[in-house]
Amino acid sequence: MRPNNELKLHFVNVNHGDCTIIEFPDFGSPAVHFGVVDFGAKLGADRALPRDYMQALIDVRRDTDPTLDYVIDFVCVSHPHDDHYGGLNRFLAAFADPQNRQNNKISRYWDCGFWTTASRYNQALATIRDNVNITFTRVSSGAEYEFGEARVTVLAPSIDLRNRYDTYGINRNNASVVLRIKFRNSYAIIAGDAQFASWGKTTEEFPRQRRIEFFSDALGFAAREDTSDQLKCNVLRVSHHGSKHGTSLEYLERVDPDHVVIPAGSQPWYTQNIPEWVGYFPHRLTDTIFDVLVDPNNRHVTGARGNIIFKYNGGWTPRQISYVTERADSANFTAALAAQWDQTA
Ligand SMILES: [Zn+2]
Repeated sequence: MRPNNELKLHFVNVNHGDCTIIEFPDFGSPAVHFGVVDFGAKLGADRALPRDYMQALIDVRRDTDPTLDYVIDFVCVSHPHDDHYGGLNRFLAAFADPQNRQNNKISRYWDCGFWTTASRYNQALATIRDNVNITFTRVSSGAEYEFGEARVTVLAPSIDLRNRYDTYGINRNNASVVLRIKFRNSYAIIAGDAQFASWGKTTEEFPRQRRIEFFSDALGFAAREDTSDQLKCNVLRVSHHGSKHGTSLEYLERVDPDHVVIPAGSQPWYTQNIPEWVGYFPHRLTDTIFDVLVDPNNRHVTGARGNIIFKYNGGWTPRQISYVTERADSANFTAALAAQWDQTA
């Protein structure tokens, strides 16, 4: 087995869509822990990519020990759009087993609770419902989960927004689950496709604050964060694929990321005019805001770079950023992923 003492974030290149796999630092038993947010892709030919990436990652961790056990502590679908759940059923077929607890590798399932008639998504919900080994939760802002030393905080959807889903025309993107992941002084935000109505709630519910040190409980929950702003993070998985409808100046100033990752495909769908991003996604992209706030060298688009891996050892800046250009369904992908394994722990 290859041990892991880092928080590793895998932004999987699923073409038009979104998938993030989180590799937690080892803890407990089994010592290999993962979380997955979203299961693009929009196009049928790409829908096996989340499953194939996950399997390759497990194989890399197993190395010479094929019996090594692992757990996927949570899977989360940010919102029911097919560029976020298109590969979900294939993933569940591989890693969720309703008949055999030993073969069932998924502990929790989170979604935003937005009602949909989409048959493929409802098929997935039925699969979860029928699997007694998976705890199903419709998460909303403020929920916190501990996975070893890592903490996952749900920033959105606000319960206030959730209670208006069917009455005030809340846009489905604004229902997106937004997660903040913390490991010591490493911070990341996975933003789904949240838009302005959601960010308005998040900036209100997670106010800027100075560091306050006071009593903490055994889990350290009461101790304030290491940053002066609860929304500040080192890497932001940009909302809504870089669309100008997903990023407001107000929230981006709060989040203030050093790096942004834009999950977007590589063929043009609609008209774009941003030279460095031409052809990357169906939305008009937010250019001015990122031009001002984020170094061009720190903008990472999956369609241009391939699979992107951020490795954090608990410090603010990533220890390493790697790219794997092979598709996850290609024959040599596991070897390509293993070649990025440079940590001897
Ligand atoms: Zn999307």
